[in-house]
Amino acid sequence: MADVHEYRIVLLGPPGAGKGTQGKLLESSLGIPSVSTGDMLREAMEKGSDLGHTARGYIQKGELVPDDLVIRMVSQMVESDRFARGFILDGFPRTLEQANSLDQILFTGGKSLSHALYFDLSEEEAVRRISGRLVCKSCQKMYHLAYNPPPPSGRCDCGGELFVREDDKEETVRNRVNVYNNQTKPLLSYYNQKGILWTIDASLSIQEVHQKVLEIVNANG
Ligand code: ADP
Ligand code: AMP
Repeated sequence: MADVHEYRIVLLGPPGAGKGTQGKLLESSLGIPSVSTGDMLREAMEKGSDLGHTARGYIQKGELVPDDLVIRMVSQMVESDRFARGFILDGFPRTLEQANSLDQILFTGGKSLSHALYFDLSEEEAVRRISGRLVCKSCQKMYHLAYNPPPPSGRCDCGGELFVREDDKEETVRNRVNVYNNQTKPLLSYYNQKGILWTIDASLSIQEVHQKVLEIVNANG
């Protein structure tokens, strides 16, 4: 089991379920870092690193980036000092191989995951959410044209410029949902068997979902 108040949390759910949004809120509430592997890969693409070049081909098609690359990226981070007191992972793991590797890395350091939070949302609603998503270039905060509109300036509240993700166009989104159903959904039973899976109704408002998450982590810390 995790030490008291040392939260090691993974966020699960279909693309568009609100993992990134909730990860950032939980980061402020718990004071531990929330990291999105999607953001890390997009940053690598932006920088033009080897990882970024390789990742781009997969991301543009809505496919998963190969396990070995993503596992290497996450394992360095999980072992760093910044993560020593807990963390929130958004978008990782996405395959059983990634889940097993994460468990191994933590086990080697005498640690384990405390919570797998599953944001349960229908496919139609997830697609609707992705269709209106805007992301801040500087702090990666998410907005939605209808559900969570940006300030009247049209910029993020940090002042950053907002953009539409390349992989948020409809055909790519459909493929991402299929990839999720085939490759990531099996993780629900993996974590259920370990007794650390909590399901949250992600169709509620952003603040209501955040409250539910806090109730769960506070009651099962
Ligand atoms: P994920 O990280 O799971 O792909 P995001 O956190 O990026 O999902 O959310 C997808 C979109 O839905 C964003 O535009 C976000 O502003 C919006 N959103 C997130 N949570 C909610 C919610 N509870 N209700 C309405 N819209 C939401
Ligand atoms: P996200 O920002 O979580 O929606 O991720 C965007 C894209 O990045 C995904 O569609 C994948 O192509 C890639 N990606 C992010 N996290 C992972 C992961 N854990 N494993 C493989 N690919 C990933």
